[in-house]
Amino acid sequence: MTVATEHHAPERLRAAGLRVTVQRVAVIETLAARPHASAESVFSSLRDRLSGVALPTVHGILGDLTGAGIVRRVSLPDAASALYEVQDEFDNHHHLQCVECGRVEDVACAVGEAPCLHPSHDHGMRIIEASVTYRAICSDCERKK
Ligand SMILES: [Zn+2]
Ligand SMILES: [Zn+2]
Ligand SMILES: [Zn+2]
Repeated sequence: MTVATEHHAPERLRAAGLRVTVQRVAVIETLAARPHASAESVFSSLRDRLSGVALPTVHGILGDLTGAGIVRRVSLPDAASALYEVQDEFDNHHHLQCVECGRVEDVACAVGEAPCLHPSHDHGMRIIEASVTYRAICSDCERKK
């Protein structure tokens, strides 16, 4: 779960064999503080802290961190762009998303371990995980109706 735990950004970068840079650490810290953020929103929160950071740089860093398993890229059906969050080890949570305002919340795995769901026929493929999104309407949006 992406709760407010200490994410030890430099240690995680070193463990993944990535060079520790101010920008990479800042991206991890930004996502740890505000999970499920798009590259654009990571960029806009970094712009104030780091001078000279550009959106393509942020995309590049997110790509490196995703490849290294430090960050998880989440594609949700009702999100305009891919969202990112810091990935903890053995993390297998799912997402609850409001189809009206796009609010995203983490929910624990329905079963407790991947792949969570098993198809009736796997076509000979080994299932790694079931990517589950609960599409929902949040109470704020419900009230506005
Ligand atoms: Zn909503
Ligand atoms: Zn999440
Ligand atoms: Zn699950």
